[in-house]
Amino acid sequence: MTYDYARDHEHELSAEYLYASDAEVLGIYESDDTLQVDVAVICPECSETLTLQTAVGKVTSSGTELPLDEDYYD
Ligand SMILES: [Zn+2]
Repeated sequence: MTYDYARDHEHELSAEYLYASDAEVLGIYESDDTLQVDVAVICPECSETLTLQTAVGKVTSSGTELPLDEDYYD
């Protein structure tokens, strides 16, 4: 994979190639009265670390305890 390719492509992401165990939460904050969560993931195509900026749409009980153990991701 060339540098030019990594620089030019648009990091189109698919859930098929993203894994929660590889992601890290970078920040949780409010913006325009909306709770925002930034999550770092690795681009499956170029391996660059990307930030997903997400707005929380719903809050529910997770039924799990933090920190998650490795079994959670199986
Ligand atoms: Zn990429």
